[in-house]
Amino acid sequence: MGGTTEASLLARALVDAGESAVFSYAGRTANPVAQPLPTRVGGFGGVSGLRAYLRSNGISHVVDATHPFAAGMTRNAIDACTAEGIALVGYERTPWHAGPGDRWTSVPDVKAAVDALPQAPTRVFLAIGKQQLEVFAAKPQHHYVLRLVDPPMGLPLPDALAVVARGPFTVDGDLALLRHHAISHIVAKNAGGSGAAAKLQAARQLAVPVILIDRPVVPARAVVDTVAGVLDWLHHGTNAGTERGV
Ligand code: NAP
Repeated sequence: MGGTTEASLLARALVDAGESAVFSYAGRTANPVAQPLPTRVGGFGGVSGLRAYLRSNGISHVVDATHPFAAGMTRNAIDACTAEGIALVGYERTPWHAGPGDRWTSVPDVKAAVDALPQAPTRVFLAIGKQQLEVFAAKPQHHYVLRLVDPPMGLPLPDALAVVARGPFTVDGDLALLRHHAISHIVAKNAGGSGAAAKLQAARQLAVPVILIDRPVVPARAVVDTVAGVLDWLHHGTNAGTERGV
């Protein structure tokens, strides 16, 4: 189950290892990255739909390599795999941690991120994707720069500009973006991993404050944090992952 840079890396590694696998996309973007594996697109239809899919396709192992904020899919995978007795591992990136020079404020959710923005009009890089943008309409006084995979059909914010781009991103590119748009605040999700970390390094260099949204909590499950860890788990059984929730 993909939709992330990490899932695409894993797909390549599975092909190279000669594994038989199918890649699953939710179907959120118009032109998803082509995968070297057979690919299916679209929701399964909740836990019951996923259970039926797993059964009818003779799936023995499920790797949840979805984004850490795709908690609905993760919960469904846990429930479906538990019910079907199918091995499941989460391929989960390590969360980002603040280092010297970082000016981060951690918040529990998107609503709290809105609250953490100043009242006085400012220029915000809203790097949270296209979902939940409307929550920021509670602070319409800000100029918002969004980075989206697809051109938006319309934006729920009165003063917003969309930059259409797909990660992974570079520090130089994100430095240029922050400077060009005179960004004074960044709002981002604590996704972890490398593909989206460039904006945080650029923020550090420019001393731009970052409001970082914590990951949603999901039930405990086996997790690994590298491609090698997934392959090891596949080859050596279901207990190779660390049992933990986030
Ligand atoms: P979500 O809220 O956890 O999932 C909502 C529903 O979308 C799921 O119940 C499932 O539908 C379907 N779904 C999600 N991921 C799927 C997958 N890989 N294959 C098939 N169906 C999937 O998920 P989301 O946050 O909307 O994320 C959707 C996709 O975008 C995921 O693939 C995720 O990796 C990617 N993504 C998300 C974020 C983010 O910030 N949330 C960022 C980058 C990429 P059914 O119940 O019908 O099965």
